Amino acid sequence: MRKKIVAGNWKMNKNLSETEVLLSELKTKLGASKEANIIVAPTFTNLYKATQDLKGSSITVAAQNMHQADNGAFTGEISADMLKNIGVETVILGHSERRAYFGETDALLADKVNTALKHGMKVIFCFGEELQDRKSNSHFSVVENQLKNVLFHIKEEHWKNIVLAYEPVWAIGTGETASPDQAQEMHAFIRNTIANAFTPSIADEVSILYGGSVKPNNAEEIFAKPDVDGGLIGGAALDASSFEAIANAI
Ligand code: PGA
Repeated sequence: MRKKIVAGNWKMNKNLSETEVLLSELKTKLGASKEANIIVAPTFTNLYKATQDLKGSSITVAAQNMHQADNGAFTGEISADMLKNIGVETVILGHSERRAYFGETDALLADKVNTALKHGMKVIFCFGEELQDRKSNSHFSVVENQLKNVLFHIKEEHWKNIVLAYEPVWAIGTGETASPDQAQEMHAFIRNTIANAFTPSIADEVSILYGGSVKPNNAEEIFAKPDVDGGLIGGAALDASSFEAIANAI
């Protein structure tokens, strides 16, 4: 049975006091959730607080990014060891905002994935096509290449630490979602691509999340699709009731 996962990417939102409030609401609402693994990804400055506040609940904490080097002269950066040392075992890598605004390439992301895996971390790897790719009908090849460039070199045994998050760029923060059928079509393609490159059992076991304008009113029909194993939620993760409703839609 594949893991069901609902993860909230808080992006650059919520200062410490706001983080405390949201964490406490989520702990009450979802702290004993059994249907899905619930993950929250506050910003770096609030990660330690999040791990402390969520103790005794089933909600886990992820970072939104990480540097690829183990340590050293990289002013302003955060390492895998620093994250693990404060109890953060999961990192989101490859988000389209990191790619678009911070120049993260597939080659860099392959390095980041290697570092995270070397440190025993779990990776939520984000990828997805842009609008022009879909319009020119190249969305499948774009997605296949992103997977190939960043993940096809990893060892089979490392797949247990990988979660995939398909996020069509045109659906992120736009209010426009992929239809449930579009999501299912792509998720099935992704699973098939992994089966061909690795093994059918690896493909069968990897959780593939959908991300891009998931809201309480559309989560259920998206999550009902057989190859959609949950969601990576942006805007709607900033409100406890909305995030709860999405998590309960699984
Ligand atoms: P959104 O963001 O739910 O606000 O569209 C999703 C994401 O960026 O992961």
